[in-house]
Amino acid sequence: MTFELSPEHETFRAVVREFAEAEIAPHAAQWDREHRFPVEVIPKMGELGLFGMTAPEDYGGGEGGLTGLCVAIEEIGRVDQSLGITLEAAVGLGISPILHFGTEKQRQHWLPDLVAGRALAGFGLTEPGAGSDAGATATKATLEGEEWVIDGAKQFITNSGTSITSCVTVTARTGTMPDGEPEISAIIVPAGTPGFTVEPAYDKLGWRASDTHPLVFEGCRVPADHLLGERGRGFAQFLATLDEGRIAISALAVGCIQAMIDASVAYANERTAFGVPIGRKQGVAFQIADLEVTAQAARQLTYKAAALHDTGRPSAEVKHAAAVAKLYATEAAVTATRIATQVHGGYGFMEEYPVARFYRDAKILEIGEGTSEVQRMLIARGLGLPVE
Ligand SMILES: Cc1cc2nc3c(=O)[nH]c(=O)nc-3n(C[C@H](O)[C@H](O)[C@H](O)COP(=O)(O)OP(=O)(O)OC[C@H]3O[C@@H](n4cnc5c(N)ncnc54)[C@H](O)[C@@H]3O)c2cc1C
Repeated sequence: MTFELSPEHETFRAVVREFAEAEIAPHAAQWDREHRFPVEVIPKMGELGLFGMTAPEDYGGGEGGLTGLCVAIEEIGRVDQSLGITLEAAVGLGISPILHFGTEKQRQHWLPDLVAGRALAGFGLTEPGAGSDAGATATKATLEGEEWVIDGAKQFITNSGTSITSCVTVTARTGTMPDGEPEISAIIVPAGTPGFTVEPAYDKLGWRASDTHPLVFEGCRVPADHLLGERGRGFAQFLATLDEGRIAISALAVGCIQAMIDASVAYANERTAFGVPIGRKQGVAFQIADLEVTAQAARQLTYKAAALHDTGRPSAEVKHAAAVAKLYATEAAVTATRIATQVHGGYGFMEEYPVARFYRDAKILEIGEGTSEVQRMLIARGLGLPVE
């Protein structure tokens, strides 16, 4: 059995790579240094169709599927992890919930601009007191007449405060289930709604050119029809959303590993020590060879999971494959940045070489959209273990 991308996906990869090399790579270090979200690049990515991979034509989308999205994220992430996560979150967290669970009216209203890259949307699940334990959501939404009144706070929300952010979908407690568990629903909050405050951006270790903010909701009122999907299904919806997101994050990790291989091979051929290129030393060359093995393994796991998703395999199978891919690819990416930095010696610690930026960027891959521990928990449960 082999697993290969289609010729169309490979052609698409070449197009995205050319775009990434020309439009993003030359500026990535500067955006990172300035902690600047390059909003001007988003419509260009939109013109290439990168935000529309998973959306139907009706909303301006294409036919790439999650596999196509992974190709795009891998290639953007190979030059800039910040823009890679921007794309991942824009589709996986911004577009997907509305596409999968929205009414036709909601889709028609929000999706065309999001798919075209004229707008971005965020997904607010994490709270100061609820991350891995997302069911502990404390944000409340109360139905008063024809309006939801939202009170609470969200934290670490990607794409939530850009100048083109059109809305943020948030999870909130909307009541109590018959079994006493909190009823959690998802609600779309348009940017600029009174009572919805986007706090100043975080000062982050990595992903510095991506947009991440704390959000505060104080008596924030939105029309009742801004409920996304069924009332009380917000928790199930976000679990489904995260399965796709984890596959996409794996692709971002693959891009990171590939970048580290490319940088290490170039440096090991050019840098000399003891009169020879350092790549002549097995101690260096073998570490880079190991990176190639992890890149191939991570890529296979990622695209296998994407293919399972795109061919409509049972959700339990996709969930398991997504967790396996995310765990392996992201931990391999962190290791790859450590090895690549080591290959670069002292220069690896200097921002003039991209490996330093990737070293800072990689760590969050093991945390966002479910930590490594959460992935191990999911995998263990999938194996039938009674792990808590
Ligand atoms: C840059 C950035 C962007 C983000 N973007 C978004 C976004 O757009 N939307 C959004 O909703 N969230 C977003 N997040 C939040 C992210 O998904 C959470 O940070 C992540 O899920 C972990 O939650 P936490 O930070 O509360 O950590 P915690 O849940 O407090 O975890 C702390 C530690 O405890 C471990 N732990 C927790 N529970 C268990 C357990 N049962 N077993 C073993 N170990 C456990 C964790 O693995 C971790 O190591 C973002 C975060 C960052 C940093």
